[in-house]
Amino acid sequence: MHRALSMFTVILGLAASLLAAPPAPQHFDGQTWWNHVKVLADDNMEGRETGSAGLRKAQAYIVDQLTKAGLQPAGVNGFYQPVKFVQREIDEKNSSAALVRDGKAEPLVLGEDTFFSTRIDLAKEEITAPLVFVGYGLRIPEKSFDDLAGLDLHGKIVVYLAGSPADVPGALASHYQTPVERWKALKAAGVIGILSIPNPASMDIPWSRMSLNRAHPAMDLAGSEFNETAGLKMSLTFNPAQAEKLFAGSGHTFAEIAALGKDRKPLPRFALAVSLKTHASVKRSEIDSANVIARLPGTDPALKGEVVVLSAHVDHVGIGAPIDGDRIYNGAMDDGSGSALLLDMAANLAASGEKSRRSILFAFVTAEEKGLLGSKYFAAHPTVDPKSIVADVNVDMFLPIVPLKILRVEGIAESDLGDRAIAIARSLGVKAIPDPEPLRNNFIRSDQYSFIRHGVPSIKLDVGFEPGTPEEPIFKAWLTKRYHAPSDDVSQPVDLGAAALYEEITRRLLLEVADAPARPAWKADSFFRRYAAGGGS
Ligand SMILES: [Zn+2]
Repeated sequence: MHRALSMFTVILGLAASLLAAPPAPQHFDGQTWWNHVKVLADDNMEGRETGSAGLRKAQAYIVDQLTKAGLQPAGVNGFYQPVKFVQREIDEKNSSAALVRDGKAEPLVLGEDTFFSTRIDLAKEEITAPLVFVGYGLRIPEKSFDDLAGLDLHGKIVVYLAGSPADVPGALASHYQTPVERWKALKAAGVIGILSIPNPASMDIPWSRMSLNRAHPAMDLAGSEFNETAGLKMSLTFNPAQAEKLFAGSGHTFAEIAALGKDRKPLPRFALAVSLKTHASVKRSEIDSANVIARLPGTDPALKGEVVVLSAHVDHVGIGAPIDGDRIYNGAMDDGSGSALLLDMAANLAASGEKSRRSILFAFVTAEEKGLLGSKYFAAHPTVDPKSIVADVNVDMFLPIVPLKILRVEGIAESDLGDRAIAIARSLGVKAIPDPEPLRNNFIRSDQYSFIRHGVPSIKLDVGFEPGTPEEPIFKAWLTKRYHAPSDDVSQPVDLGAAALYEEITRRLLLEVADAPARPAWKADSFFRRYAAGGGS
């Protein structure tokens, strides 16, 4: 509908919009939240690496604040839930990788061409195997999509471009790109190693910075129940700017592949003209860390045994290679901002006297940066009855760096939590939208996914933007410059009003879910509903 407005309509409209103006946030000013961020992201916390003294110091601060706010400890040792890890660190001087073409080895430069991923337990022996390009390397039965169909992959190393075809919905595509789901399909096809090429169209961090911290240790949860990539012997990440050397002689170019991948088009699949020969030397050790869990008890005799989880990760990536002379990766937004929000929320709810029927569980998890490990452990071994967990609202790097007008909702269409978030946001003058950047895989990239894998309806909210608006380049620049860099610190600009409004939305969502007669429910057509029916992953 398009027509000229009469002056009368304009005046009416103006009056209506004044009346409908969103009320100012009731409970937060942004400042108390930011004060917590300043503590957690201070240089003396040393970037809160999992297992470090800096992280323990941050956790001690959190426990102290929770105690002062009057929350109940809900861990195993008081507020703490201990978690054990194995740590793996590449010894690059004693490691090597080469392409083999016509029987001749062409050494690859580690760091420049490629680097080993120690997220998996790399085989100790030397590996030599032919390379096959498998497109996105995905098998998605729900969409009858199979990049592996018709290829002989037995004993091969597969090369794939990170990404997914456009006709696969974002959440589903993200799910199948998790290491565990990807490996299930590749293992069944007889694959022994993977070489992944980041999609140049969706790289949050430039190669130079990805490569800079490749020696940084990777971790996994101790215990075979958590080994999801058993049988995978080799894993490399390859620099897209050097990727043509993989494709030389194959009849295809990487430029052609990248152009298709940018638009999420189907990719060709074919044998490459080279083999790969690698030897990885890895230092292994054991690390202890902990989640911090607190409860704000509900009041309803029948429902207070159920909990709504509000989660955020306390860990970050610690001390690393210097950038502009700074070695401390403070993690102010990632995820000092989320941990601080939990503290602010806990204190606010406890002091307000506003009671909810269900209990609220505050989960400050560890080792998110290592692959959502602390939350994965908690979801598998919760400190409360697993069936009592009705929802997870996860807060990770919600980025209040512009005024909050657009709320990006991960999981918006998967459960009725999405409908609640949309309505609450609207009541505060904010527009809730699905993730406009499905290639970035946000739905599986933070701790909500650990709960989803155990059937718990979950959601993650972020300050967002609509594509093509002036806000878009602000977020893009933040990722390029500050994401997982020392400049994600407390000297960066922050919009306290946006943070306060975000907190208000989160508060209303928590209380609504905690008070509603029925538990949150998956949508009938949600792919992730299966984990609720199946009782976990
Ligand atoms: Zn992070």
